[in-house]
Amino acid sequence: MPFEKLLSPITLGSTTIKNRLLMGSMHTNLEEVEHGFQRMAAFYKERVVGGVGLIVTGGIGPNEEGAVAKGAALMVTADDAKNHEVITRTVHQHGGKICMQILHAGRYAYNPELVAPSAIQAPINPFMPRELTSDDVEQQIEDFVRCARLAKQAGYDGVEIMGSEGYLINQFIVEHTNKRTDQWGGEYKNRIRFPLEIIKRTRQCIGDDFIIIYRLSMLDLIENGSSQQEVLQLAKEVEKAGATVINTGIGWHEARVPTIATSVPRALFAKISKQVKDIVDIPVITSNRINTPEVAEQILNDGYADMVSMARPLLADPEFINKAKADKSDNINTCIACNQACLDHTFDNKISSCLVNPRAANETLLNFLTTTNAKHIAVVGAGPAGMAFATYAAQRGHKVSLFDKHEEIGGQFNLAKQIPGKEEFHETIRYFGKRLAHENISMHLGCEVRATMLVDFDEVVLATGIAPRTPDIKGINHSKVVSYTEVLNKTVAIGKRVAIIGAGGIGFDVAEYLSHQGTSPALDKQLYAKEWGIDLNNRQRGGLQPKHITPSARDIYLLQRKASKVGKDLGKTTGWIHRASLKNKHVAMLSNVQYREISDHGLEISIDGEIQLLEVDHVVICAGQMSFKPLHCELLDVGYEKPIHVIGGADVAAELDAKRAINQAAWLAADI
Ligand code: FAD
Ligand code: NAP
Ligand code: SF4
Repeated sequence: MPFEKLLSPITLGSTTIKNRLLMGSMHTNLEEVEHGFQRMAAFYKERVVGGVGLIVTGGIGPNEEGAVAKGAALMVTADDAKNHEVITRTVHQHGGKICMQILHAGRYAYNPELVAPSAIQAPINPFMPRELTSDDVEQQIEDFVRCARLAKQAGYDGVEIMGSEGYLINQFIVEHTNKRTDQWGGEYKNRIRFPLEIIKRTRQCIGDDFIIIYRLSMLDLIENGSSQQEVLQLAKEVEKAGATVINTGIGWHEARVPTIATSVPRALFAKISKQVKDIVDIPVITSNRINTPEVAEQILNDGYADMVSMARPLLADPEFINKAKADKSDNINTCIACNQACLDHTFDNKISSCLVNPRAANETLLNFLTTTNAKHIAVVGAGPAGMAFATYAAQRGHKVSLFDKHEEIGGQFNLAKQIPGKEEFHETIRYFGKRLAHENISMHLGCEVRATMLVDFDEVVLATGIAPRTPDIKGINHSKVVSYTEVLNKTVAIGKRVAIIGAGGIGFDVAEYLSHQGTSPALDKQLYAKEWGIDLNNRQRGGLQPKHITPSARDIYLLQRKASKVGKDLGKTTGWIHRASLKNKHVAMLSNVQYREISDHGLEISIDGEIQLLEVDHVVICAGQMSFKPLHCELLDVGYEKPIHVIGGADVAAELDAKRAINQAAWLAADI
């Protein structure tokens, strides 16, 4: 059997789970929308049918002050429990198991009523928490217990008590946020009393046959976080208090160390879970940047943990386990850890979905039903938009021909995958390549399409992408000037001193690429840990140590005309990583720049009226893009009167990303 360990059953207390994959907790924001429970039931059902052994829901608050934001989902009344029944019933009908996560946000709650062990404001929250009195602490524990009891009433197989990521329980455990002098503060045994009381009283209340997962922070990644000895002591006490299983968490939300972004090496943190596995008898789960069955199997074979937790990979492909079972892991739509449609949406109060799978959390709305009116459709352009449209339309039974002028599919993803830290983008091209072959799409690569070639098709989809913008700057035709496509396609050798005009996503990526030398840290765990100052064994309190940055290969200026902070508009959960990475490499990031002239001397700019000459060897243009669809007019010119659809960058280039390109393609394919 392939992936023997991953696919073998495991018993948690008195419940047998059919394999060792736990779908980790994800807040999709469906919790709070109309028909949200039905939509969540459909979302979870698809993952259970796809083979997931055990699911943990998104975090549910045990009381109002503990909810992640005002109005966020709570489990406080019998009516709340009733609402969840559709979820538990559906999961059980399809042979799955599901636990509800109890999440008290403490000082992270985006809510003016927030509470914490001490009145110390989180650096990522504008609200100051109120310090809990001793009586309040007792009440908070009772609220956790009530929440677990109601979860049982709602039909859940267990609860996960969220004790990591810097939420309330973590805030009690660590001195950094707990300055109390009563029995809940001071020495370590007092600071861990709060989680231990929650577990003990929950176990007493709900009996032995209910799973209690305790999420334990293995590495806080903050100053003055827990030491290795403290974490291990807590693990033993958690077991004694009655937990069925320990799930390990990495990093507080306020930590300035990336823990799940695409630039984090796969399974970077898995080994540390072994420290706990070696000293407790209950099963241990590991997590973070595990996105293929191969990586999961290796972790289990290495004995680092008894189960693996994956969350985003199940957004990207609900059939993950079934494909592993069929030994077809090559057909898995791999999570590229971009956060663009999942976490960025969660923090923007939008429904979370997935860049590579827009059906995620839209299972009741976006369906690729077999067509009763099969058409012969030409798709021009095999970038993300064209690949996705062709796949979904062919899946519905349309006859699809896909053209691209390049010999490779993937469009701009072939440039994105060159960036150190974006190696995962290879996987999306691999996945769509497999799907295109499977759906018997007629492929025409290395074929620049002219309108006359399209006249016999019933409908035409133009997914021809973009053309880079050439800004109007004196000297723009100078030999020092190159475009980002030339840099990333390696058609020019770039000098040691470089100015980049344009600091959008592509300007940042090009700066990362040009600053780089040697192996990509995303492919080398030790190098990555050194660059970000992570002690992967937690020998230093909190798991932090001084950074050792490989110096930049070049002197780089990253420039923009706007007066705002450079990189301000990058992704909500990843922008800070891009900025920190370039700062570490001493890239000069300048705003409010006027471009005066490019000449033999370099690039002359002025900032606030002050003229400066940047003596650079090359000026790389990353000044945005314009839609590219010359075929549209050509088709009209040759008298094509059948439907023409324009998607992706060809449709609108401004603020284009692959999320929009694939999403637009999917909805059109579902409808055509
Ligand atoms: P494209 O990817 O541009 O594809 C268009 C295709 O059409 C091309 O393959 C082209 O060869 C073909 N074509 C054009 N004319 C013809 C013709 N006449 N005949 C045949 N074929 C034709 N987006 C994100 O969401 N996240 C990221 O992290 C990210 N990083 C990026 C990093 C870099 C360095 C770059 C360059 C882009 C990045 N993007 C990212 C942007 C993303 O790649 C684009 O938004 C996406 O590729 C747009 O998809 P598309 O299908 O509309 O166009
Ligand atoms: P962009 O984000 O629109 O940035 C273009 C940059 O060029 C801006 O800094 C802009 O800043 C500057 N600019 C625009 N017009 C100019 C002109 N006439 N002269 C000089 N400078 C000009 O576009 P992009 O960087 O090309 O990226 C394209 C898309 O790919 C983006 O929308 C992005 O979403 C996507 N992408 C995403 C990621 C990611 O990590 N999520 C990574 C790469 C790309 P000023 O106007 O202030 O000068
Ligand atoms: Fe993974 Fe990106 Fe999809 Fe989120 S949006 S699940 S990070 S591929």
